[in-house]
Amino acid sequence: MIKPSPITPNDLDDDIQKIIPGKDPELSISLTRIPVLETDITSKIVPVCEPTLGGNEKKYVNDCLDSNWISSAGKYIPVFEEKFAAECGCKYGVACCNGTVALHLALAALGIGPGDEVILPAFTMIATINAVTYTGATPILVDSEPCTWNIDVDQLADKVTPRTKVIIPVHTYGHPVDMDPLMEIAEKNGIFVLEDAAEAHGAEYKGRRTGSLGHAGAFSFYANKIITTGEGGMITTNNTEMAELTRNLRDHAFSTERHFWHKFMGFNYRMTNLQAAVGLAQTEQLPGFVESRRKNAALYSQLLQEIPGIVTPPEAGNVKNVYWMYSILVEDAFGMTRDELRGFLAKRGIETRTFFIPMHLQPIYHDMFKGQRYPVSEMLCERGFYLPSASSLTSEQIHHVVNVVQQAYNETHR
Ligand SMILES: *Cc1c(COP(=O)(O)O)cnc(C)c1O
Repeated sequence: MIKPSPITPNDLDDDIQKIIPGKDPELSISLTRIPVLETDITSKIVPVCEPTLGGNEKKYVNDCLDSNWISSAGKYIPVFEEKFAAECGCKYGVACCNGTVALHLALAALGIGPGDEVILPAFTMIATINAVTYTGATPILVDSEPCTWNIDVDQLADKVTPRTKVIIPVHTYGHPVDMDPLMEIAEKNGIFVLEDAAEAHGAEYKGRRTGSLGHAGAFSFYANKIITTGEGGMITTNNTEMAELTRNLRDHAFSTERHFWHKFMGFNYRMTNLQAAVGLAQTEQLPGFVESRRKNAALYSQLLQEIPGIVTPPEAGNVKNVYWMYSILVEDAFGMTRDELRGFLAKRGIETRTFFIPMHLQPIYHDMFKGQRYPVSEMLCERGFYLPSASSLTSEQIHHVVNVVQQAYNETHR
């Protein structure tokens, strides 16, 4: 049996130990505060994120059940693929069972393996790097740029070697990566660009949608993503060969000439018709979700920028951020640490999440990246967290959350 990595925060350098977030605070609403009205918002939990299932989800799922088509052979799969790909400005969509697998399928189709190098940001979610590790290739990390929190394209150029086969830019928290200079480096060196767009459904860079900016994109439809299928993922691409290969690999790589004859190492990474039915209904609502999230973010930022020490999320001039999570940084001027502020919010029923812990600090990758430092990623890990961010969040809830942040500030500046 495998054993967990023995690395603890204490094994990290002294100055890094302190940036690893503490345990999640317990979410509670004080029973001593009796709500004045049943509708009193301060007496209710505000979750950090929840799916919004207000469209045709039920109708389409019932159609699957009524017609007896519930596996991956049903009619909703191609319709969902086509509709979602069109939303991304892509010719092809290949649905699969989650976002991690979407990344893995694309890398597998490229034949990435031991000896190859794949460049990705140090500041991302673990799935990005794990998908690389599954192939046996070597992950190479790049720090974030301070202005957008995304992979620093200037630093990326220095990490390219003759072994570099793929770059995986991650559109962090819904903010697109500065793709033009990245594509220039990739094209000059014959490198494939696979966007990790798991957090950026509907986002735009210079008027073009994420998922169509590189050579292929990988999306996740996990329950907390901007659109969801419960669990699910999709590869988007304009590359016919990539679409055909990933479609084949996700289904055990059955060959077309004879059944039960396999010429590639395939996987069962299929999506079910039931999930695609939900996905189609969600895709119909994507423009509305994006609009709500941008409206909510604008209100949050307008209210929060009055509070010293709170840094609101970035939006570069040439992008449309979709604010998958409304992310903020807590600076010293606030007077409380990030963890203290999270505790203050949790006691008042407001759920939050800390930013990612960078890849070079993960127990499972500790030895691989020993001695490497990524200062911007580390700063984000120390200071960042996200506030409630669902598409269905109301302006009343946003005012409530900001009031509590203001209250925390006032308590430390009496
Ligand atoms: C959510 C996420 C994934 C993984 O998606 P799953 O559907 O959970 O496998 C990959 N990359 C990023 C950046 C994500 O946020």
